[in-house]
Amino acid sequence: MSKLLEEFQEYLKKMNQYEHVLTLLYWDMKTCTPKLGQEGHVEALTHFSTEVFAMSTSEQMGEMLTELAKPAEYDALTDTWKFIVTRMKRDFDRNKRIPADLYKTYVQTQAEAGNIWVDAKEKSDFSLFAPYLQKMIDLTVEMAGYTDPGVEVYDALLNQYEEGMDSATIDGLFEALKKDLIPFVKEILAKQKPENPAFKGYFDPDGQRKVQDLLLDYIGFRRDAGSVGETEHPFTLNFCSKDVRLTNHYYENNPLSSIFSAVHEGGHAIFEQNINPEYDNTVAGSCDYMGLHESQSRFYENILGRNKNFWLPIYDKLGELLPAFKEIPLETFYQEINHVQNSFIRVNADEVTYCFHIILRYEMEKAIFRDHVPVGDLPTLWNQKMQDYLQITPADDAQGILQDMHWSDGGFGYFPSYLLGSIYDGMLLDTLQEELGNVDELLKNGKIKDITAWLNQKIHWYGNTRKPKDAIKAVCGKEISAEPLIRYFKEKYSEIYDIQI
Ligand code: ZN
Repeated sequence: MSKLLEEFQEYLKKMNQYEHVLTLLYWDMKTCTPKLGQEGHVEALTHFSTEVFAMSTSEQMGEMLTELAKPAEYDALTDTWKFIVTRMKRDFDRNKRIPADLYKTYVQTQAEAGNIWVDAKEKSDFSLFAPYLQKMIDLTVEMAGYTDPGVEVYDALLNQYEEGMDSATIDGLFEALKKDLIPFVKEILAKQKPENPAFKGYFDPDGQRKVQDLLLDYIGFRRDAGSVGETEHPFTLNFCSKDVRLTNHYYENNPLSSIFSAVHEGGHAIFEQNINPEYDNTVAGSCDYMGLHESQSRFYENILGRNKNFWLPIYDKLGELLPAFKEIPLETFYQEINHVQNSFIRVNADEVTYCFHIILRYEMEKAIFRDHVPVGDLPTLWNQKMQDYLQITPADDAQGILQDMHWSDGGFGYFPSYLLGSIYDGMLLDTLQEELGNVDELLKNGKIKDITAWLNQKIHWYGNTRKPKDAIKAVCGKEISAEPLIRYFKEKYSEIYDIQI
């Protein structure tokens, strides 16, 4: 190993120790810090994140990366270190181009817009949020001019969350979905089922925790490298592959929420736990591609978790851990977890109409960044699209355009990754069945860990080192297509809703 590489690794180790503390502080703040203790944590968090940012943009870092990128050093690196140097040099150059003043304004406005959004949502008044949304849009455009000069703004934003993805590709995928799903969903909704009162009763939160633990163990979440906390909104966080944590929330009168959050976050966590441990504590050792990450959580949540056969080997145990389930036959449960309905709120949507919630947001973002639609016109546009895709109109802004926090945070371009994840899942399901056999049979026979092992080997192991497009091509041998997902929806829901296809 060259002296320079050794020096570089020492430097990264130090940076990583700060990052470790930052992650721990964040976890503690979200899960157990008392209200009055938050301030002290925020101060420490600000201190350590400023340190990390200073180290990552220091002159020393710039010099090391420049030297390591030269053939004399670079050619001698292993593939892993070639990836790390290339990725860090790209991020370094990108960060260096952003004027310090602009970055500061961006971070401040982000915090303000976040607070105003909470208030505006509570009051259901878009006009309060509109000026801050405008500021976030303007700042996002300005930042993109520095980070991705010469690239069309919205493409640059999409690329930040799903590298290698652009709007021309997404347009093709989403249009294909619309063409088939709009008429298909209309057919499903024509056979609308009433709400099932069986799921409206009391479901003991302690029982829900036990069910969650059963599910996490069942799908292959490793306890020696993971733990579970409780928060308002579930999320997953990782220190490295050996310490991955997730959270959940337990509603007394909605057991399906914690069940499917457990399986969803479990999918994210299993991904992080099974990345090549050689990549730990480097930029290779996590997955920054949001679509690819979502493909794993949504594979567990939807493709597996909403399949009746997933539940066959464990449904009796559910009744033992949470007795309210003893009264609900598996068939009723299966119908409920696949109940398609046109609803206002994205996070509560079923897996089919969920596609429309994302397509709507994607088209809104294109209207903002491409067509420069004035901010004041956005609620009307939102409502019009809800009518087009779901034949419903939100009663107010809180139920409509104000429901998600993403835009207040500057997360423009993030939404499409959720649906890209499902599109990848359609393809992964096809390939899994070619290689391992029929998924219904695998699940029926309790062979879920074989599926997890397959995903570990095909997707998780590579962490950040393969871009989503390349990962899907490598595993499925094909370019990305929405056809498998559409076929999956049609086969599954034509049976549930007795529709001729
Ligand atoms: Zn997720």
